[in-house]
Amino acid sequence: ANARDADAAIRQTDTDAAGARLSAVQKGYLHDPFVKALVPRAHLQQPRPPLTNVGTYVRSEGIDELVNRWLDLAQEDGVKAQVVSLGAGSDTRFWRIETGPRKGRLAKYLEVDFAEVTTKKAMAIKKSRDLSAVLGSPEDIKLGSGGTALHSPIYHLLPADLRQPPSETLAPLLSLLSPSLPTLLLFECVLVYMSPEASHALIQWFVDQCSGILGGIVYEMFGLQDSFGKVMHENLRARGVSLPGAVPYPTEASLPARFLQHGFTMSRALTLRDIRRAYISREEAERISRFEMLDEIEELELVLGHYAITWGVKVPEGKADVRDRW
Ligand code: SAM
Repeated sequence: ANARDADAAIRQTDTDAAGARLSAVQKGYLHDPFVKALVPRAHLQQPRPPLTNVGTYVRSEGIDELVNRWLDLAQEDGVKAQVVSLGAGSDTRFWRIETGPRKGRLAKYLEVDFAEVTTKKAMAIKKSRDLSAVLGSPEDIKLGSGGTALHSPIYHLLPADLRQPPSETLAPLLSLLSPSLPTLLLFECVLVYMSPEASHALIQWFVDQCSGILGGIVYEMFGLQDSFGKVMHENLRARGVSLPGAVPYPTEASLPARFLQHGFTMSRALTLRDIRRAYISREEAERISRFEMLDEIEELELVLGHYAITWGVKVPEGKADVRDRW
């Protein structure tokens, strides 16, 4: 496959992710009234297997919990928070925050993805009253850069190829962010599609720009070297998706290096298997167990054991911060 086909396959992973989210919503695992407006019509009625629904649920709950706590810690400090979602795809997190109990806590929420993806999302936002009403009044919402960008008072959608030098492609973010406010970077299922060098340059660019507290959350596959991981890797390759970033974190113990190598003061990682086992309340576990039969618990654990959420925080030197408790 040539490079253009390979990029199209990478972008297609967003349609998969949004379809998986919609499936989990329709089964009752997750509450998200916004995702439907972002899924192409042809994908609207495609339920996913129970294993995928459970995985989507655990991933979503895990990341939500971390983002919610980040917003709570900012509030304890008496400041609003900034969020930058890289490879955001059809994510609905901004809309869920702004219509939930933490409404009004965001200073800025920026999303970045390939221009093809941001163009479609910008159009979907314009077309959907549910999505655009959360952004502000119609005159506050403006398309930019030939329809590849969208701007509103808090939410901004921007096109960039994250593999390119950040100093060039991400320069437009600088005028939108306040360097001193706590900033949270989200990399949900995106770094795996980039080389380790490009991921490194991307995270380091934010470290260099932010004088305040910087947080990061990475969700990714890891451990693709073992026999089960190899099968997962092969499945993706068969669909034309290349995973140049899949190799550097072979074990759970090595995941925090994602952040620690950039001078982050704290970093931790949990696999989805461990989150499901230890962090989902009994009531929730019971609630979701009623939706579908899950007879292959062993297989579920094997798959969930290959996905991890890693998070970290970088506090400016000489400062102590509540986010060490994150
Ligand atoms: N973060 C979203 C989520 O978790 O639902 C979408 C995840 S989807 C699996 C991966 C996203 O990363 C796609 O939207 C894709 O276009 C984007 N992406 C991958 N490589 C990228 C790059 N080099 N530049 C910009 N976006 C990229």
